[in-house]
Amino acid sequence: MELRIGWLYGHEMNIYGDRGNVMCLARRAEWRGIGAHVTTIGIGERFDPCAHDVLFWGGGQDREQIAVAADLSGPKGAALAGAIEDGMPILAVCGGFQLLGHYYRPHDRPELPGIGVLDVTSVAGDTRFIGNVVVDSPEFGVLVGFENHSARTFLGTGVSPLGVVRTGHGNNGQDGLEGARYRNAVGTYLHGSLLPKNPAVADWLIQTALSRRYGERELAPLNDAHERRAHDDVVARALALAH
Ligand code: GLN
Repeated sequence: MELRIGWLYGHEMNIYGDRGNVMCLARRAEWRGIGAHVTTIGIGERFDPCAHDVLFWGGGQDREQIAVAADLSGPKGAALAGAIEDGMPILAVCGGFQLLGHYYRPHDRPELPGIGVLDVTSVAGDTRFIGNVVVDSPEFGVLVGFENHSARTFLGTGVSPLGVVRTGHGNNGQDGLEGARYRNAVGTYLHGSLLPKNPAVADWLIQTALSRRYGERELAPLNDAHERRAHDDVVARALALAH
C-alpha cells in the first residue's frame, strides 16, 4: 500500500510548524510499512483529485491568502471542493481552514472568496488570538495546539465543530467552539504542529485515506509513548498557564 499526500500550497502557506503535519502523516504510514509520497500543489499547478489520498493545507498571512484565493477562484477550486464533497480526507489549518469556507474578509481589503465547501465564514478582528489551545473533541479526545490568528470564524449549520475549547480562543473567542468537521474534512486553528502531538487525528486521516482507496483498513498500532508524553506535557502546561 502507499499513501499519496497532497500538500496544498506547501511553499506559500506553511507557518508555525505546519510542515510537521505532513512529516507526521508520512512517518506514521512508513512505520507501518506503507510507502508515503508527498506532492506539493502550488499556485498555477493543476489539482488532480485522483493523484492524492489525503490532503494537508496550512496557514499563511493575508498576502499569501490573497494569491491563493485567486488561484482557486476557477476550476481548480471547484475540483478541490468536489474532491472534499466526495470524501477525500483533508486537514486544513488556520488560513487554509478559512479558505475552505465561504469567504475570509481581511481588515482593510475586499473579501477573499473561499471554495465554499465548508459552511463557515471568517472576518478579521481587531486583536490577534495567540497562544496554546486545549480542545475537547468528541471524536478525537483532548487535542492541543497553538493558535495565532486575527480572523473570527463562525460555523453555519452545514458543519459541526471539531470540539469545544477548554483553554484558548478557538474559532472566534465567543462561542467556545474550535474548528469544523464536514465529511472527511477537518478545519482547525491548531498549528503547532498539530498531528505529532495528536496522533489520533493523524491515524484517522491515514486510515480514512487508505480505506477509501483500498477498502476498509485497520491500522497496526504504534508505540506512541513519546507522542503521548508530548501531548500530556503540553496540555498540562497550557492548562497551568491559563489558571
Ligand atoms: N489571515 C489569517 C488570520 O490571521 C491567517 C493566519 C494563519 O494562518 N495563521 O486570521
